[in-house]
Amino acid sequence: MRRTLVAGNWKMNGSLPANKALLDGIKAGVAEIVDCELLVCAPTPYLFQCRQELAGSPVAWGAQNVSEHESGAYTGEVSASMLVEFGCTYAIVGHSERRTYHAESSAMVARKAVRALRSGVTPIVCVGETLAERQAGRTDDVVGEQLDMVLQALEVDEVARMVVAYEPLWAIGTGITATPKMAQAVHEMLRARIAAKNRDAAQKVRILYGGSMKPDNAGQLLAMEDIDGGLIGGASLKAEDFLAIAEAARVVKR
Ligand code: PEP
Repeated sequence: MRRTLVAGNWKMNGSLPANKALLDGIKAGVAEIVDCELLVCAPTPYLFQCRQELAGSPVAWGAQNVSEHESGAYTGEVSASMLVEFGCTYAIVGHSERRTYHAESSAMVARKAVRALRSGVTPIVCVGETLAERQAGRTDDVVGEQLDMVLQALEVDEVARMVVAYEPLWAIGTGITATPKMAQAVHEMLRARIAAKNRDAAQKVRILYGGSMKPDNAGQLLAMEDIDGGLIGGASLKAEDFLAIAEAARVVKR
């Protein structure tokens, strides 16, 4: 049985007072959330605040990116071991905004995933196709190849320890969500690809859906067999919505 993970991606949003209010709101409602892991991925400067506010609570905190390098002359980068020092247990890698605006290749994303995993940080590896790629019938090829780069870089026994997030680019921040059937089809394909490397790991790896997940569509998406949680952008900035998505997960996954 895979434990549902509901992860918030704050992106480049927040301020010390706004984060405090958001985290207080999440903490106030978290006692109701059972059988579901909650995570917030905050901008790097706020990881210290997350540690202060969330230590001892059931809510985990993580980063939105991590360097592929261990240390050294990489100005502006943040290493996995630095994230560990701030209590991060997860890091998003290869979010489409980083692939698009920061030219992150699938090879680089794979190196980041390896670096995170071997430093004790669980990578949430994002994969997804553009609208043009979907319309050209290339979704499985594009998304499958993005995943394969990571699978090739990991040792067989490491595969089960990553998290994958399927995030169609046309659904991120647009208000348009993949239908549960569309998302399930891709998740199933991804799990089959993982099974080709390690059948046992494929049963353990959590595959999240991301792309305009909201309280009103979360239940249907999370009810699908291969959808093990959500990576949530916009709706993770409101405690009420974030908790409502976790509650939807509890209802459908019990
Ligand atoms: C994301 O940024 O990973 C995301 C899924 O955003 P949104 O939920 O706003 O579409």
